[in-house]
Amino acid sequence: MLGTTAGCHRLWSHRAYKAKWPMKLILTIFQTAAFQGPIYVWVRDHRVHHKFTDTNADPYNARRGFFFSHVGWLLIRKHPDVLKKGAMLDCKDLKQDPFVVFQRKWYAFLMPFCCFILPTLIPCWAWNETLSNAWHLIICSLCLNLNMTFSVNSVAHIWGTKPYDKSISPVNNTGVSFVTLGEGWHNYHHVFPWDYKTAELGNYTLDFATVFIDLFAFLGLAYDLKTVHIDIVKKRILQNQHMNNKISYKE
Ligand SMILES: [Zn+2]
Ligand SMILES: [Zn+2]
Repeated sequence: MLGTTAGCHRLWSHRAYKAKWPMKLILTIFQTAAFQGPIYVWVRDHRVHHKFTDTNADPYNARRGFFFSHVGWLLIRKHPDVLKKGAMLDCKDLKQDPFVVFQRKWYAFLMPFCCFILPTLIPCWAWNETLSNAWHLIICSLCLNLNMTFSVNSVAHIWGTKPYDKSISPVNNTGVSFVTLGEGWHNYHHVFPWDYKTAELGNYTLDFATVFIDLFAFLGLAYDLKTVHIDIVKKRILQNQHMNNKISYKE
């Protein structure tokens, strides 16, 4: 989950902070173990999602329903708009990142090793777990982890509050934040995607990924952490309320 949240999402997709190579190495290993495709593909899809939210070019377009945005988008061919608009995106930074390039090139070998072989063999070797138990627990944890990540694209685009922008589908959802280490403050995140906390709350509330990044910043391995000043956050809430009042007055 940290490979996805602190790595793929906050570091590589949004460049919300910078990381030195030891942190990138850890995040690349974690991300490879998450069974969510190469970092390059994940990030390209996510950038298209932000740029074209709720349109046909959005790979997990929430307007196509819960199932589609949760996992259905992975089961069918991508909409032509996703491919067309995705190809227009600037992913130069990813092509220059040796971790992203290496992982993409060797993904077919690295993924089975990090995702299935190593996590199955370690319990057998370290505390005499049976092969069957170790294997089935890995499959179980993968299913759980994937569904928790998918909930950001489905649940956090349907059920919750919209303090920052009523006109878009992303919502703030506490439950999603709980299971994804802080990715459920999604209405905030779509308005301020460069904030490394992905949350307006500066107190680590249901946001373990921020604790993780701050720990690495303390160790000197993460730096240039970008965030949003509280005054701008408050201003945006008032703006959103004002827009709301205007809409309900017109109605
Ligand atoms: Zn979203
Ligand atoms: Zn994002």
